[in-house]
Amino acid sequence: MHVVGTAGHVDHGKSTLVQALTGINPDRLREEVERQMTIDLGFAWLTLADGQSLGIVDVPGHRDFIENMLAGVGGMDAVLLVVAADEGVMPQTREHVAILDLLGVEQGIIVLTKSDLVEDADWLRLVEADVRSVLAGSGLENAPAVAVSARTGEGLDGLVRALSALLKEIPARQDRGRPRLPVDRVFSMAGFGTVVTGTLLDGSLGTGEEVELAPSGVAGRIRGLQTHKQRIERAFPGSRLAVNLSGVDVGAVHRGDVVCHAGSYPPTRLLDAKVRCLKDASTPISHNQEVKLFVGTAQRLGRIRVLHQDRVRPGEEAWVQLVLREPVVAARGDRLVLRRPSPAETLGGGTIGEAHPRRLHRRRDAEVPRVLDRLLRGDPQDGLLEAARGRGPVFLRDLVGAAEMDLEHATELGQALVDSGRLRELRPGTGSASGDNLVVDAAGWQELTERTRRMLREYHAAFPLRPGVPREELKSKLGLEARVFAACLGAWADDGFLSESAGAVGLTEYRPTPTSDEQAAIDRTLRRVNAARFAPPSARDLVDQVGEEVFAFLIASGALVPVSAEVVFGADAYAALVEGVQDLLAREGQATVAKIRDEFDTSRKYILALLEHLDALGITVRAGDLRMLGPRSGKS
Ligand code: GDP
Repeated sequence: MHVVGTAGHVDHGKSTLVQALTGINPDRLREEVERQMTIDLGFAWLTLADGQSLGIVDVPGHRDFIENMLAGVGGMDAVLLVVAADEGVMPQTREHVAILDLLGVEQGIIVLTKSDLVEDADWLRLVEADVRSVLAGSGLENAPAVAVSARTGEGLDGLVRALSALLKEIPARQDRGRPRLPVDRVFSMAGFGTVVTGTLLDGSLGTGEEVELAPSGVAGRIRGLQTHKQRIERAFPGSRLAVNLSGVDVGAVHRGDVVCHAGSYPPTRLLDAKVRCLKDASTPISHNQEVKLFVGTAQRLGRIRVLHQDRVRPGEEAWVQLVLREPVVAARGDRLVLRRPSPAETLGGGTIGEAHPRRLHRRRDAEVPRVLDRLLRGDPQDGLLEAARGRGPVFLRDLVGAAEMDLEHATELGQALVDSGRLRELRPGTGSASGDNLVVDAAGWQELTERTRRMLREYHAAFPLRPGVPREELKSKLGLEARVFAACLGAWADDGFLSESAGAVGLTEYRPTPTSDEQAAIDRTLRRVNAARFAPPSARDLVDQVGEEVFAFLIASGALVPVSAEVVFGADAYAALVEGVQDLLAREGQATVAKIRDEFDTSRKYILALLEHLDALGITVRAGDLRMLGPRSGKS
């Protein structure tokens, strides 16, 4: 199924031709029928003798309605360029040809209408030659020409034959697994509710599916689908489609909205595009100029940033960045047209290279056009890589929108990029649902690793006696989400770059080493603690003596063992206590605090702290006044 559009000057017979071909009067508004002038899009359809069916979009030819025309030409596969034989090329013939060229419409037929009004065959040839001179250099320059009269029917058979030959040459639209329907009409039908129409692109839609209207995000469900007034269950790319939406108020939808699956087309307010200024434009396209953008069926106001020069002169092509006032839905490779809002004029147009640039590009940065040119050439691996660039570690499922692909495709391409070393895969630890693959581009990984290395070095320099940064502190300094942080730590540990122990993260090669003064203090303290054995000085006393850092170092190194906030034993005394308590309980079965205290010839406060500590470890258990061996005791 294909979609063919009309184009050409007002009154040259487009609507009459469509009606003669299809039997359908495409002028839908009473006003249009009364004024005999198409002011909005008209629609009709036709099944050719060879069985091919086609939808026809009839666009207005009047200068004042050029913007309506633009909403209609986006989805067309081929065009009928209509020129009245008696009048020949007129201003809107030229403007439409220029727009078709900007939009990349390269298939079509030149239809010389009203042939009944010219008797002279030479005149017809002259008109055709004139049309061809307008088409010179465009994709339509070699289009076949057919003369017809809608009034007498002469030439219509030849036109149908030409159409049938042309459509056979046009490949079916691609299914990229990301359906979108740029809405060109919205209306409400009694008994059905909201209906939108458009040409379906890039994927298929089925009855019953949940959809959203982008960019507004309004959610709805497909209640019914029709193509050419036939009910269908599933629609494929390239079809003219009427979609009956349930759960959507007719006032909530507008021309230019896009029906798609939720989240599959994130809206954007920045677009990178390669644009050409029309050679007949009255002015160049200037940096910072206000423009009206047409993409799909949408139009938006915005500002244009010309990236490598101050202006794009008529006939020139350049990369620009569009900064839109309101978000729009667009994808890489989409064609766009730019108009000056006032006085209204078509200035140029081109192709979107990046629909989701993450920032305003620095002007005259030579890397920008290189990357964009590559993207435009369309290597999907580059697309995915570009989406990942500068994001740091990111889940694949969060890249599919910007990379313009479905998850399955992204997973496959992501694997190839991991294999070739352009992406690094990090293991998020828990869960391996698809889309949970965490990746980071090579430069992003290096940047994050270097930043972490710097933080650890600084921490080691500031706190030389500590084994490393507390894990939570590092996580919040790096600003990473818990799962991402855990995956990064795992990767860094695998690389041997850092290690983690007791909740502190340090550089692998780092060993806390006391200065000679500190070492002297440490020796003094340990002598004191060891001499006191089962009745050591309090933690506060020790901190007062050696300072917080040395005290923490002694604990981290295992020379001191804290059993409560206040009570700290030397390593030997602690080991002897743990052994001795268990031996006593194994021997006696149970013992009171007083009994245990006497065994070690110390005071109650030490033994209470020790026993609570051992209870917590499961080495002892308490029953009233008594202690017994706990489940984790080594004795029985
Ligand atoms: P559009 O603005 O291009 O859609 O033009 P229309 O289809 O509305 O036609 C404009 C006028 O030309 C109408 O009055 C038509 O009746 C007339 N017309 C269209 N086709 C023919 C034709 O083949 N022969 C003649 N004599 N008149 C035509």
